[in-house]
Amino acid sequence: MTSSPTPLHLQTRTIHAGQSPEPHTGAVMTPIFQTSTYAQETPGGNKWAYGRTNNPTRTALQDCLASLEEGKHGLVYGSGVAAIDAVIRLLSAGDTVVCGDDIYGGTYRLFVQEWADRGIIFQFVDTTTAALEIPDGTKLVWVETPTNPLLKTTDIAIISKKCRQVGALLVVDNTFATPVFQRPLTEGADIVVHSLTKYLNGHSDVVGGAVIVNDDGLAKRLAWIQNSAGAILGPQDCFLVLRGLKTLSLRMREHQSNAQQIAAWLVQHPHVKTVHYPGFSGMISFVLDADLEATTRFVQSTRLFTLAESLGGVESLIGIPAIMTHASVPKETREAIGIVDGLIRLSVGIEHIDDLIADLTQAMNTTFSPTN
Ligand SMILES: *Cc1c(COP(=O)(O)O)cnc(C)c1O
Repeated sequence: MTSSPTPLHLQTRTIHAGQSPEPHTGAVMTPIFQTSTYAQETPGGNKWAYGRTNNPTRTALQDCLASLEEGKHGLVYGSGVAAIDAVIRLLSAGDTVVCGDDIYGGTYRLFVQEWADRGIIFQFVDTTTAALEIPDGTKLVWVETPTNPLLKTTDIAIISKKCRQVGALLVVDNTFATPVFQRPLTEGADIVVHSLTKYLNGHSDVVGGAVIVNDDGLAKRLAWIQNSAGAILGPQDCFLVLRGLKTLSLRMREHQSNAQQIAAWLVQHPHVKTVHYPGFSGMISFVLDADLEATTRFVQSTRLFTLAESLGGVESLIGIPAIMTHASVPKETREAIGIVDGLIRLSVGIEHIDDLIADLTQAMNTTFSPTN
């Protein structure tokens, strides 16, 4: 299904794109089409034939996501890593991927412990540097911006020009920025991937992933992979993500406002050594002037910031990447790129800012009080 870009604002498209009243009843909300198969009028003659191939709830979500990213085609999957896996299936053994060196731990694990064993070659580089050169023959370049957990940014327009020169496809994982703050396809990227689990669904009650592209040929190959490998998102989860998306603009505004105020508070705090915040969206990481033991005490002392993996929900979360999300990255590799044991990651939620800062203040007091 395609949905061409419209002049409507993104905030309006989060509510309407891909969704029109259901033709039988006029139901304003897209129903959950909980069915695996469809009655056919003539054998094999139906657009709707089998639930793995397509489902109307899924189509509505796919079209909405395509519209938000200003792409033509969207595809959704059972998780973010299933979406990433589908993109790597575009390649063949012997193909080279140039990949950012500060990426989501699960993406790193999928690349190094699954696809590298099947002959895909991964070269990890710092994609944030202007000096980056992409070797001839590279098939695909994988960029996360901002990165996780160090929140470094890559200039998509510059790297997309370099990709074009060597004929490589540029993939951008847009999970941290969301289409509210960044639309990579408009800056020359070929493929956008998302973990829907994070900001797009936004309520920490679904695991899902998405791929969005403009090119019809790429969309066709991805739809083939989606149907053949079958890592689809079920209709109930598609419905929940559609519902979550309706408040995306409101949520991101609030996530960002809270994160900006917390980043400013951390920067002036005497026990904070470094703050990583790109100035937009809701993720912050920072290094406490403390060892792993005290860092652990800090993340166990917060009451509103729940100690948990994941990010992008309305509730605030806190974690230590080195021993949580990035535990599968070898310690030397981690430390070489700055993921030290004392690094704390915050997913800043949309609670009241005063309550969030009060929570961090009491955790600081608990961690650094003279009795400890
Ligand atoms: C969470 C995440 C993923 C993986 O998504 P899942 O839904 O957990 O499979 C990929 N990329 C980024 C940047 C993420 O934060």
